[in-house]
Amino acid sequence: MGNGISLPRPVKDILNALGTLGFRAYAVGGCVRDSLLGKPPQDWDVCTDARPEQVKACFSKFPVLETGLSHGTVTLLLNHVPYEITTFRTESGYSDSRHPDRVTFVDSLREDLSRRDFTVNAMAYHPAEGIHDPFGGRTDLKAGRIRCVGEPGLRFQEDALRLLRAVRFASAYGFSVEPDTARAIHENRLRLRNISPERINVELQKLLCGPGAGKMLREYADLIGVFLPELTPMVGFEQHNIHHIYDVWEHTLHGVDAVEPLPVLRLAMLFHDSGKPACYTMDEKGVGHFYGHPKVSFAIAEKALARLRFDHETIREVTELVRHHDAPVTAEEKSLRRWLNRLGEQGVRRLLKIKRADAIAQALFCREERLPMLDQAEEILEQVLQKEQCFSLKDLAITGKDLLTLGLPQGPMVGAALKALLDKVIDGELPNDRERLLHAASAWMKSKNSPHGR
Ligand code: ATP
Ligand code: MG
Repeated sequence: MGNGISLPRPVKDILNALGTLGFRAYAVGGCVRDSLLGKPPQDWDVCTDARPEQVKACFSKFPVLETGLSHGTVTLLLNHVPYEITTFRTESGYSDSRHPDRVTFVDSLREDLSRRDFTVNAMAYHPAEGIHDPFGGRTDLKAGRIRCVGEPGLRFQEDALRLLRAVRFASAYGFSVEPDTARAIHENRLRLRNISPERINVELQKLLCGPGAGKMLREYADLIGVFLPELTPMVGFEQHNIHHIYDVWEHTLHGVDAVEPLPVLRLAMLFHDSGKPACYTMDEKGVGHFYGHPKVSFAIAEKALARLRFDHETIREVTELVRHHDAPVTAEEKSLRRWLNRLGEQGVRRLLKIKRADAIAQALFCREERLPMLDQAEEILEQVLQKEQCFSLKDLAITGKDLLTLGLPQGPMVGAALKALLDKVIDGELPNDRERLLHAASAWMKSKNSPHGR
């Protein structure tokens, strides 16, 4: 863990400008935490004993956004980069488990730090004073621990989003949750029902993309179940099948960890087998099967992602992967050309990643069988792409216009004819050559027109 904090020039300028006017000002929160971890902070927040009007007056020459003014936050734009400057404050009376009823400005830094959620987020820094760390944030950072500032139960009752933030930070940093904080998360989990789907969405994506995602999903399946109850039946669901060494949920968690940390891929792994419990059958030999589960998983994912307010594009991309995760992709040009036609290049690349993660989370002999096949499929995919082989209508060497010129009447026949020609090209029965395609098209039209052509 690095010990030095190096403030960017604009942050130094902000602290100096306020200091010159006799105010105290510190870099605070996430930027101090990330600097101590040696990670570049995403943004730099400042806290100060100056009141919002005084902050505005201090930076009157610069653009200032007043979005958080009533809570004491002024956003200053320096070179188009926003810096949030927030007056020391405490919060009280969280009657809705979301928003404080009252915000009170205070004079002490310590009081401001005490309202913050976790010890690792409750540190402030000034170059002349060093780090202010009244709650042991540095010790918890070194130990890799997320711990509430103060009494965990009370802190979660004030603001239920913190339940998910704790688990998200633990996942993102590969930390554990300190036992009292962990207990309070389980006890207070139902309070998460008060939190808007939009805010849950943000935390869920960060949680899923952390190096500790599998571990946190395992330890907090009950918390996840509060906003994704459709995943709960997977927990402990035995598969009774030699392809699997894990129950459905454990398999899912291994799959999540095994895929690249991008929201679309991790969400796809989270949902890919969610339809399994509903599709379970056991044959006379005592072997478990899950016929048709990808379709059920698809429906579950679509509904759940819409409820959590994911955008249409993400929903489409995730559900497409869920729907096809079990479909055969063989290491043959023909197979890859067909998949390229259906999913496009990015879609096929993602599908292969999903299939790889799925295989890694299965029994050893499945991995040994499937991973080399997927390697091969990837190689062939590159070859097909390099050869720029034809796999979608827009790549076809003729267009609908050509067919109209040949005399085909306008209407659905045009699309059907193009699709039939494309299939022949994909299957290698025809080259993607203009002359040959036109020839085939007119032969096909003649056969349609002749009285025996049906
Ligand atoms: P990141 O930006 O990397 O997600 P962060 O710690 O900067 O992490 P923000 O949501 O930007 O998180 O919040 C900035 C700071 O405000 C936090 O470090 C914490 O001190 C405080 N904070 C944010 N949300 C809460 C909350 N719900 N309850 C208490 N304190 C909070
Ligand atoms: Mg931040």
